[in-house]
Amino acid sequence: MSAQHINDETFQRLQQRAALAGCSVNELLLHFLDDTPSPAKPSDIPYQLLVEHTTDAISLFDLDLRYLYANPIIGELTGIDPTMMIGKTDHELGMPEDKVNFWKSEWQTVIQTCQEKIIIFDFTTPQGVRFYESRLTPILGDDGAVQFLAAITRDITERKRTEDMLRDITNRLPGMILSYRLMPDGQDEVTFVSEGINAIYEISVEEAYADIGKVWMKVYPDDLEKFGESIRESAKNLTLWGYQWRIRMNDGSTKWVEGRGIPRRLEDGSTLWNTLLLDITDRKTLVQQQEELIDQLQLAIGTGQLGIWSLDLKSGRVDWNAQIHEIYGIAPEDHTHTIDTFIARVHPEDLASAQMRMEEASTAGRVFGVNFRIIRPNGEVRYLSASASAQFDDTGHLTKLMGIDIDVTDIRQGELKLQQTNEMMQSIIEHIPVLIALFDENGRFRFVNRHWLDQLGWTVDEIEREADPLTLFYPDPDYRQQVLDYMLSAKPGWRDFQTYAKDGQILEMTWANVRLSDGKSIGIGQNITERKQAEQVGLEKERLLASLEIEKEHSATVHHIVAKIAHDLKTPLSVIELSREILITYFDRIDETQRRERLETIGKQIQYMSDLLNDLALIKGNVLEARSLQLAPTNLTVMCQITLQALQESIGVRHKLTFINDQMMDLILVDDVLINRILLNLLSNAIKYSQADTEITVSLRFTKAWILLQVSDQGMGIAPEHLLHIFDLFYRINTVKEIEGTGLGLSIVKDCVERHNGRISVESTLGYGTTFKIELPLIVAAVQAVVG
Ligand code: ADP
Repeated sequence: MSAQHINDETFQRLQQRAALAGCSVNELLLHFLDDTPSPAKPSDIPYQLLVEHTTDAISLFDLDLRYLYANPIIGELTGIDPTMMIGKTDHELGMPEDKVNFWKSEWQTVIQTCQEKIIIFDFTTPQGVRFYESRLTPILGDDGAVQFLAAITRDITERKRTEDMLRDITNRLPGMILSYRLMPDGQDEVTFVSEGINAIYEISVEEAYADIGKVWMKVYPDDLEKFGESIRESAKNLTLWGYQWRIRMNDGSTKWVEGRGIPRRLEDGSTLWNTLLLDITDRKTLVQQQEELIDQLQLAIGTGQLGIWSLDLKSGRVDWNAQIHEIYGIAPEDHTHTIDTFIARVHPEDLASAQMRMEEASTAGRVFGVNFRIIRPNGEVRYLSASASAQFDDTGHLTKLMGIDIDVTDIRQGELKLQQTNEMMQSIIEHIPVLIALFDENGRFRFVNRHWLDQLGWTVDEIEREADPLTLFYPDPDYRQQVLDYMLSAKPGWRDFQTYAKDGQILEMTWANVRLSDGKSIGIGQNITERKQAEQVGLEKERLLASLEIEKEHSATVHHIVAKIAHDLKTPLSVIELSREILITYFDRIDETQRRERLETIGKQIQYMSDLLNDLALIKGNVLEARSLQLAPTNLTVMCQITLQALQESIGVRHKLTFINDQMMDLILVDDVLINRILLNLLSNAIKYSQADTEITVSLRFTKAWILLQVSDQGMGIAPEHLLHIFDLFYRINTVKEIEGTGLGLSIVKDCVERHNGRISVESTLGYGTTFKIELPLIVAAVQAVVG
């Protein structure tokens, strides 16, 4: 069937429908379908020609979707001769299945609704895939039912590509594109929106199209009214629209959005804006921060702390704010507004470096912490801390330098004072004869002063190398723990600890702790070894003095008794002598009774003398032998000193008593009472048997095993024949009869020496002097630990 076979009736109906629909192409088509010229249309229009030569594809179908007509373009698109298509369906023509089904279903809608429909589809032509837009038109019969179907199909490939590209571009643009239409009655709608709406509004494109209310909902309630006003204003006067508003994000945060658009009035009185919306949150925060910064800066400037200057490099003009005038002590009217005013005030020593830093600002753009001094016109020196920044023009040329000067004199002076105090403290700490150690909360040493190092002998390296330096000073673990506990307790007061020096010497130390606010502690120590020794010596002295006193009394008593007995012996002896004289001289002149009386007198006196001698033996026994040897730790040096001193005091300047003792010896075990007895007897002899003003020397030495004690005088000496006897009890050399004595002293000395398992010897030169030498075995007393 060809188009020419469509009868007039059909044509007329088509023509009527076309006229009703007002569609020119349909008219053309209908006209073309009928050979008879339409009375309603100019007969000279070559419709067929137009249809045959139009660029649109035109086809006509019956209700079974069989081709009634297809123009040459259809042939080009499908590659099928249009005349061959007549009476056939797309399916029969071998069109792709999916397209056939698609068209079929679209046509059905048209048939059912009797409404025109525009469809868009792609189609693979001999020239490749192209996009088409088809207008599907129902052509109705007189009964109002659909009689034919007409399709006018246009190649929209280029348009579609442009559209796609545009869409792509809009979607890639920062922010979002929104076409917004406001109707005169206040209704509004989104006519276009790019995908940027996802990011900005957290709304999908579809949601926005479907319900503009969703877009409005996102706007901050506070901003809504003014936002609406800005739109109405733009609509009213068709002025450029621009506004910034906040929207609420799903996570509760706030976003700042800026919109701009040009309004256009449409025919129906509505207004359309094509707008660009941008997320300006970052910019806004930055601005806010800047504003805050400016506020702070203003505040700082306002409180008079900041001096601000600027140097315009083109004109060379310098401007200062009020504060900087104050800092420099220069009145505004005295400012030359050149850099010279500044240069004239900078301290000569700081000028070069200050200028160098300015240069730095010119190149680096910015400098901070430039410190220099200025001298005010009144001579006062101020310390300034400055910073500067440079401004450059578009071509990168330096145009302006700006800077801030802060007067830091007070701070600087405070620093200086602090520094001085620190230096002073440091020098005190370094030179004070006190041990100072800083240690942390774990007992680790952080610092020790010079005296600490001097006294204990360890180097800083050695302490630092040691995991637990306390082991060096306190080898005993229990004792060390006591020390550590004390260190960390930071109790007030002093406590004594025996501390090991590097050379092995045990130092008597007293320590105090001070807890610092940061948890560290300072240990302050004093070496009290000497004090302790002095204390010990003092105690020893007291003890020895007491024993000396007792011994002196004891010895005096002994000598007194012995002297008394000796004296008492003289009377009976003289009575005996007298009786003997009488008996011899008058033996014959006296009678028997008288002779007997004399003999009895002699007998009585002998008995009396015997009694006296018995008493003497008793005294010797009691005094000399009754006391057992009592060894006690004694400082022999101190003891000799005390005894000599006591004697010197009692004898005055008659003799010079000298003590020689080169070696110090700690405590040794002796019976100090007996030693005192030895010293007293030997010294009193030396005094008795030598001239006044001569020297008496006591020397004390120690060998590994012996104590050597010597007493020498420059007196009369002892003849060799007496030397063997002088230690005998009551032995006195007859040349000394006029010198008081009992002959008891040396025997007591010998006895005391022997009790110590010692030896005594004497060397003497008659007329030159005598030396008694005593050797006693040396027993060192064990050191007593003194723990504070
Ligand atoms: P006393 O001194 O009481 O006579 P001693 O036993 O102390 O008794 O001394 C015995 C004697 O030894 C003395 O009488 C004296 O002659 C002699 N003698 C002792 N010491 C000295 C001395 N330092 N120089 C000279 N003679 C001494």
